[in-house]
Amino acid sequence: MANTTSESKRIRYNDGKKTALMLVDIQYDFLPGGALAVTDGDKILPVVYDLLDRFDWDLVVASADDHPKGHVSFASTHNKDCFAQTSIPEPRSKTGATLVQDLWPDHCVQGTSGGDFESGVQSRLDASPSKVAVIRKGSHQDIDSYSAFADNAYLVFTDLPKVLYSNGIERLVVVGLATDFCVRATAIDSRKFNFETVVIRDGIRGVFADREEAVLSELSSWGAQVQTLGEYENEAS
Ligand SMILES: [Zn+2]
Repeated sequence: MANTTSESKRIRYNDGKKTALMLVDIQYDFLPGGALAVTDGDKILPVVYDLLDRFDWDLVVASADDHPKGHVSFASTHNKDCFAQTSIPEPRSKTGATLVQDLWPDHCVQGTSGGDFESGVQSRLDASPSKVAVIRKGSHQDIDSYSAFADNAYLVFTDLPKVLYSNGIERLVVVGLATDFCVRATAIDSRKFNFETVVIRDGIRGVFADREEAVLSELSSWGAQVQTLGEYENEAS
């Protein structure tokens, strides 16, 4: 039977494993009206609010895409079309190695409101009874970072591994935007670090909705559990 939802008794997984809620890039530019709006991205918000309001977390992590002007991921930087790809030099390569870079509209530019967390998320982070960590990524001019753990070539890691290990975290529950890019990369890296990983499927939306099932299958093949909020709640309580 589920625990009550009163403020004094939030739901927590009863197996004793320390669990973090991972909020991937819930920023205005990825929500309807934003520069890189994910279709129905706002539909995840009730699920995200529920996870923040009714569950007890050992840690809440919010990642933020955080690009300088003229970032390598912007189509405008290359005078190319958005949603195409280009080849870019791997920043540290001495042998001319290249990386494939997806090209996007300018988004989450440092100092702009499009990079702000959605206000309902921000207010819950501000009032959270749990410890909160914010991880900024994609801040290097010459390389993109889909994962909240590292850039796309694993040249530099963010503080996320350190934050998770220093808090004794064993399980990550992942929601956010977008399924096929930053959620995917973050969940795969979570498995690479061998964290138990749960992706809440009604708490994510993709840029390319037709890829969703393939992405969820891929995440399952990495050992992530894909569950609805209801399934997670039943299992947790
Ligand atoms: Zn970005």
